[in-house]
Amino acid sequence: MNKLVLICIDGATWDVIDPMINSGALPNFSDLKKQGAYGDFMSMENKLISPVIWMSIATGKVPEKHGIKDFFSSEADLKSLRFWEILAQRGFSYGLYNFFHVYPPDKNSAFCIPGVLAPGAATYPENAGFLKKIREERKRGVNFGTASMLQFGVSALKQGLRFDTALRIAGLLSSLKTGNNSFKDRYPIEKIMELYISTDHFCYLMRKTKPDISVFYENGADLISHYFWEEWETNGSNRKGNVCKYYEQVDRSIGLILQNVPDNANVFLVSDHGFQGIDKGARMLLMKTEKLLDVLGVSDRIYGMNVGYKCYLRAKDKNADGGLMKELEDKIGAIRFKEIDFPLIKLLRTSEHEIEFAFNQAELNLKLIADDKLIINENTEILAAGATFKAADILDLKPKQTGKHHEKGIFLAKGPHIKRGFKVERASVFDIAPTILRLMGIPAARDIDGKALTSILTDSFLRSTQEESIESYEAGSPVASRQEMTKDEEESVKERLRDMGYLS
Ligand SMILES: [Zn+2]
Repeated sequence: MNKLVLICIDGATWDVIDPMINSGALPNFSDLKKQGAYGDFMSMENKLISPVIWMSIATGKVPEKHGIKDFFSSEADLKSLRFWEILAQRGFSYGLYNFFHVYPPDKNSAFCIPGVLAPGAATYPENAGFLKKIREERKRGVNFGTASMLQFGVSALKQGLRFDTALRIAGLLSSLKTGNNSFKDRYPIEKIMELYISTDHFCYLMRKTKPDISVFYENGADLISHYFWEEWETNGSNRKGNVCKYYEQVDRSIGLILQNVPDNANVFLVSDHGFQGIDKGARMLLMKTEKLLDVLGVSDRIYGMNVGYKCYLRAKDKNADGGLMKELEDKIGAIRFKEIDFPLIKLLRTSEHEIEFAFNQAELNLKLIADDKLIINENTEILAAGATFKAADILDLKPKQTGKHHEKGIFLAKGPHIKRGFKVERASVFDIAPTILRLMGIPAARDIDGKALTSILTDSFLRSTQEESIESYEAGSPVASRQEMTKDEEESVKERLRDMGYLS
């Protein structure tokens, strides 16, 4: 049986890739496109939240069925089998690198390195300890320093870090100034180092354990795009900016991964969404969601997070009735700029379980143009929950993010059963899981929302195999009971979200 590799590049977009392919900067993306099928990859229509989308990619199902709602959902919320779990029932082996919601690490796997939201540092096999060290240091706010790099360098080399990569990392570190580096200097370098390490480690685990299915996830392209999109729009594809520099490293990683994959493997490369700039005319101020929940006195009962300039709130208690959300809706609606008695927040969507809102920028602009009164600065007074606060308490007045998600991700596939140079139309995030099942000779299930992308498959493959389907893989085989997050684990998830800019 042909092996299968799924490469997941969070936030990758053709808008960056195509011009870079044309200028010769992305040889591996270019080869994949020429040698396989490619096209847009349509994501969710609203709520472009990565863990939700990736779980639809892994299950082929809509979020209502798979159960993952946002960054605060955990393994306990999962209601569907991922494609590798379905394949494992038929005897296929799998290895998972950095994917969401695989914590505690899956001991049925060939290897399982839980992703960035994992509430703990455990890995399978357990000896990937150097990764734990990086994560723990980052959690404590320690950045990669020469000393800590040396400390885990030896074990990293034992776990597949190539000498060439170690030299590149040393080069990156020496490009940093001693002492304090600005976010702009430091952050892209940290992300590139993480990508170097994870790529080598993934290739090492794949070589060592040779699973039938290997999944690799990485989120640097997403995070770099959030923070440096404006720079990209200014520089274009001239390779100088941080976005282009990072994509060049993603391309290098793809090349290394492909070198470690047998020739007869089918390889998929997808992103969960694309990117676009935040309209400068309507540049939003960012709500400090965590602070806001404190001010409203609900942080023990409500999860809150930022995605771009939108904020999402939901009840921690799955069985909470709609009363709590109604109470919160009223409290949020009552927050006002004191001087002009004007609402601070615009509610975008409310339901019994969730509230989506943003800073009330557009209407505020109109109001300000009309009576030209208020200038928002850090001391501007805000009324909330019966008390007076300063704007800087609950608003980020100089938000760093200049890029936000859009609905169009990327799709690439190549392998012995996949057409060459074929442009696929209307591929969606729900189609990967059924396509993989079809390729591995496993029947589709009628409760999967996506369809196998048979248009990308060669005629000889389609002729030699049969399309079968069953009702469901979940009927009669409930997903193994999974644990709820503890208080400590919840705090750890929040720390990671703050680190990634998803919690202000
Ligand atoms: Zn993002």
